[in-house]
Amino acid sequence: MKLIIFGPPGSGKGTYASILEKKLGIPKINTGDIFREIIKRKSNLSKKIASYVLSGKLVPDEITIQVLKKRLAKKDCKNGFILDGYPRTIQQAEALEKISSPDLIINLVVPQNVIIARLSGRLICPNCNAIYHKIFLKPKNNEICDKCGSKLIQREDDKPEVIKERFSVYQKQSKPLIDYYKKKKPFGNVKCNKVDIPPEVVVERILKKIKELGF
Ligand SMILES: [Zn+2]
Repeated sequence: MKLIIFGPPGSGKGTYASILEKKLGIPKINTGDIFREIIKRKSNLSKKIASYVLSGKLVPDEITIQVLKKRLAKKDCKNGFILDGYPRTIQQAEALEKISSPDLIINLVVPQNVIIARLSGRLICPNCNAIYHKIFLKPKNNEICDKCGSKLIQREDDKPEVIKERFSVYQKQSKPLIDYYKKKKPFGNVKCNKVDIPPEVVVERILKKIKELGF
């Protein structure tokens, strides 16, 4: 089964994809992970990719699709894969059709307030990088790191205004792609409308939806 999983930033799709990977026995493929792997090796390609990634730029489509083609041709993908974070544009979706046509799409539908509640509760330690959460993973002492005693901070990226902006950018960019796949492929929405749903429960919903779509 070749599955694509869509969801806004902060939807937890990476976590769900990791659980699905074990349950379905097919690898989770994320282009960011592939780039990081390539950068570790020393080659011309790794230098090229590093120059984009390290300066915060997007790796151009031609390079990404080549790298993805190689990855999807590996043995562990012979029964399928879970693509997480790719494609992001119709152009990329069309390029993907040429190398390995996906079977179905699962789209995580997560309201903005749920994403804000999840991400804006995150606290990090500026000293040892430990991660906490105001609701789900509280430090023992109010906003003080359990490990090193430093005062915890909120990352700039996790502030509600920044999350809202990212969310609306995602909605705008993903809409045409979602419409494209709805017309072309089996497509299922999975709702995650509360902040405290355990990941396993969301994964069960995804598996149920996959069955409903005939897989
Ligand atoms: Zn610390």
